[in-house]
Amino acid sequence: MSAYRVPPTACHLAYFASMEIKKGIGVSSGVVICTAVVLDAEDLLIPKRLVEAEQIPREIERFDRAVADSIEDLGKLKDSLTLHAGEDVAGVGGIFDFHMGVLRDKVLLRQITDEIKKNRASAEYAVSTVMRRSANTFLAMTDRYFSERVKDIHDIERRLLRNLIGQKHEDLLHLTSDVVVIAHDLLPSQTAALDRNHVKGFASDVGGRTSHTAIVARAMGIPAVVGLGNITSEVSGGDIVIIDGTRGVVIVNPDAEQLVEHREARKKQLELGKELADLVDLPAETLDGHIVSLQANIEFPEDVDDALTQGAQGIGLYRTEFLYLASDTEPTEEDHFEAYANALRRVGGRPLVIRTLDLGADKYTTAMAQSPERNPFLGDRSIRMCLHDIPMFKRQLRAVMRSSVLGDVRIMFPMICTIMELRQAKMVLNDVMEELEDEGVPFRRETPVGMMVEVPAAVIQADQFAKEVNFFSIGTNDLIQYTLAVDRTNEKVAGLFCPAHPAVLKLVRDTIRSGARNSISVSVCGEMAGDPLYTLLLLGLGLNTFSMSGPDIPEVKKIIRSTTMEHARQVARRVMSFDSERQVMHFLREETRKIIPEAF
Ligand code: PEP
Ligand code: MG
Repeated sequence: MSAYRVPPTACHLAYFASMEIKKGIGVSSGVVICTAVVLDAEDLLIPKRLVEAEQIPREIERFDRAVADSIEDLGKLKDSLTLHAGEDVAGVGGIFDFHMGVLRDKVLLRQITDEIKKNRASAEYAVSTVMRRSANTFLAMTDRYFSERVKDIHDIERRLLRNLIGQKHEDLLHLTSDVVVIAHDLLPSQTAALDRNHVKGFASDVGGRTSHTAIVARAMGIPAVVGLGNITSEVSGGDIVIIDGTRGVVIVNPDAEQLVEHREARKKQLELGKELADLVDLPAETLDGHIVSLQANIEFPEDVDDALTQGAQGIGLYRTEFLYLASDTEPTEEDHFEAYANALRRVGGRPLVIRTLDLGADKYTTAMAQSPERNPFLGDRSIRMCLHDIPMFKRQLRAVMRSSVLGDVRIMFPMICTIMELRQAKMVLNDVMEELEDEGVPFRRETPVGMMVEVPAAVIQADQFAKEVNFFSIGTNDLIQYTLAVDRTNEKVAGLFCPAHPAVLKLVRDTIRSGARNSISVSVCGEMAGDPLYTLLLLGLGLNTFSMSGPDIPEVKKIIRSTTMEHARQVARRVMSFDSERQVMHFLREETRKIIPEAF
């Protein structure tokens, strides 16, 4: 699993010293700013140790005591959690019951005592051997629920070993001040045992949405981001950390600007939350009756629910590569299909734009991380990688097409740079449709096919591309990086990463114009779409579909509902006459503040 850094949403004029912005998977929403505690990766490797025959009864007695102590520990942890959290939300208590059940499992206990008796193993070695064997059995199961249980088995093993070795681990029950917890991978029981009064959020190197860590975090209502890659090596105990579980971002040693921005975000979140209830069912309609569509970007099917709660009218970008990033094994066609069918069930007839795999560069799988490229953003990423691995690409396309009969599915190819790439991708899609037809599998042949416009070459040739696709979606995150020659993951040049650069704005404008000329729809799905600073401008440039993080929707909608198209067009005309990003930002700030005085 990998993490990637994201650029700040607004331009920064200064370069950052040690600030680090990391993107992972937000699994529990909210923003927290706090001091970090880093949990060491506990690696209890047990050497092989044999005992004399006469010591066997003593080893069995030690083992029995460790089991009893472990069950007692778990009982106390469960009671303490129930006391803090009240009811057993989302099965948190079930984790402890499961662990206690395993520790009472007669077959498992007998296997361990047999290991001691027959092989004269020390109690520690017997526990380690048998538990790891058991973990491997779970790991081999294809069902994700069971493979996730491997972490529980490791957790139980460690608890037993700690009790045997006599080193009670320093848990997080005895904190005296507020902290956020940074760990490689919080074990389920560690997560559940967090002192709710003082642990205000957490972030981990690995993890996925279906892990216990995520379930428990949501149950405890603390912001959490997982799948950050190497956050444990980036943070030292005592560092100030911002965890933004809503956007899936962690900022280590934030500068003054980020602190202000996130304090403000926290405040706004609360205030906007109140307004949200009133806005959610209202259309994104200007005062003079022009309606636009506000959609959401998602990484997992489950994200659809939050997006709809925030007022999304559909999903404008489903980043399907997270299916790969959240798992150690390559997803099968069925894994893809299940995910798409799930998303379609949740989205309830609204559009779902499924972007084909955008792996590589900032989104590495564990296997890919073994042989990194020299210039990954200019390398074998995204559609290029798919066209180099047709079986992988076909697996995904088959699943997308199979799901097309279940709802309003649209396919989108990322990072298209040349007409030949687009044609090749469409040819593979045609092959897939023919295969499905031969097999008698139903699909919707007229499923709309679009492309992301995220490299300058695609804008320059937009009219040619427009004749071969049903829609464009502008990926400003990459478009900015490729236009301004700024690595979007490099904090040293983060100050140069700027949507307001006049060259970027011209490319956005030209893409929208090309779409209109060729009668195809155009959306923006990069971060710029959700930044209220650019709402008036994008509206004035004629953008009809905005796709953004769900939590950004209310503010953008509020701006749209407070202006007229005439005013937005005036703003756009004025902005396009400026020659520097400074002027652009200054003007847009002033104009936006007239609508939302507390903005920025
Ligand atoms: C983009 O590049 O703007 C985009 C939306 O895609 P991603 O951030 O996933 O590269
Ligand atoms: Mg992109």
